[in-house]
Amino acid sequence: MALVSRSLPPGQSAKMFRRARAVIPGGVNSPVRAWRNVAGGDPFFVRRGEGAYLEDTNGNRYVDWVMSWGPLVLGHADPEVVEAVREAAADGTTFGAPTEREIELCEEIADAVSSIEKVRLVSSGTEAAMTAVRLARGFTRRDRFLKFEGGYHGHGDALLGEAGPGVPSATVSDTIVSSYNDVDAAAAAVERYGEGLACILVEPVAGNMGVVPPAPGFLKALRALCDASGALLVFDEVITGFRVARGGAQERYGIRPDLTILGKIVGGGLPLAALGGRADVMEELAPSGPVFQAGTLSGNPLASAAALVVLRRLRDAELYERLERRATELETGVRAAAAGQAVCLQRVGSMLTLFFREGAVRNLDEAKASDLARYGAFFRHLLARGVYLPPSQFEAMFVATVHGPVEVDRTVEAAADFFS
Ligand code: PMP
Repeated sequence: MALVSRSLPPGQSAKMFRRARAVIPGGVNSPVRAWRNVAGGDPFFVRRGEGAYLEDTNGNRYVDWVMSWGPLVLGHADPEVVEAVREAAADGTTFGAPTEREIELCEEIADAVSSIEKVRLVSSGTEAAMTAVRLARGFTRRDRFLKFEGGYHGHGDALLGEAGPGVPSATVSDTIVSSYNDVDAAAAAVERYGEGLACILVEPVAGNMGVVPPAPGFLKALRALCDASGALLVFDEVITGFRVARGGAQERYGIRPDLTILGKIVGGGLPLAALGGRADVMEELAPSGPVFQAGTLSGNPLASAAALVVLRRLRDAELYERLERRATELETGVRAAAAGQAVCLQRVGSMLTLFFREGAVRNLDEAKASDLARYGAFFRHLLARGVYLPPSQFEAMFVATVHGPVEVDRTVEAAADFFS
């Protein structure tokens, strides 16, 4: 499994970043890749990945705890996934017409996620979330929706929740924003806007302010608020779907949403996402219903082939036990390394964040009270020792089935070295 390090001259990344900046805004195709949140200097450029490791264009190898921000639950370049994509590609990369694989994939998703009766495949989490909100609005004939500070549901105007450059206030005027884990605030918002509320949109485990678990009773209270007000409960399980359990956070916490947004793992590492849920709601989507939605590459054959391999492998409960075990070892090791320091480690299953602050993080304000400069120093320290963490305090580390004791030990040693 070991990657061969090529001894290239250092500084390739810097050169490449200059070249990238000349032709790509900020040099990257998604902002967090520029490492601005950790003042990390020039980001590396990836040459390849294998199993638990990434190799950059300088020939450096890193234990990868980012895993493309969650999708790669089986690690990089899983041979079976690669072979399935290769085989699918030989038969054509896109048709814009239905295929049997799409049926198989939607059946697999409906089998895994108990609240999902019908599924629509799309190409990104953003698209799935935009569709969920439109569908909730169309189904309820109401315009407003409630989301939570620090929750991220993609970059659609209304999903951002706040007007800004390029986001006119009219596009967010029906987006109500409340504090995560605060039942009273959510109840007050529903009291105030309930009659006009199409849905409550929530990450059942927050992953976009670092890992913040739902407080006991929070998700249940949201379910009750929806039932009382006629709003739909929409779980954004782009991160948690197939990760915190095969059936997602709704399985782990025993709450049944009306609609579920899936992304990341559901696409097997290729661009594919999904929206699913109650059949009566889903049937409102075109062409069976009046709510329009479409996509040229939706249900793409390569992505569907990869997804099927991964989701079928995830039927094996042993894989989830392995993820849990490895994540527990990592948690225990890092906790011991950081004993006596002002940090707080939060974990749900195979997603975890080490916050550089004392005391639990329950919402965005508390996440923001972390020592970001110190997180940046931690990131750089581990990077120099061949361990790649998320280049931001407000993201999760993801454990994959390919992470073993060697990768955990190396990470814990590097962390211990930092804290001593
Ligand atoms: N929802 C959640 C919870 C996410 O974490 C993300 C992306 N990180 C999205 C939606 C948007 O997905 P995509 O980047 O595929 O558009």
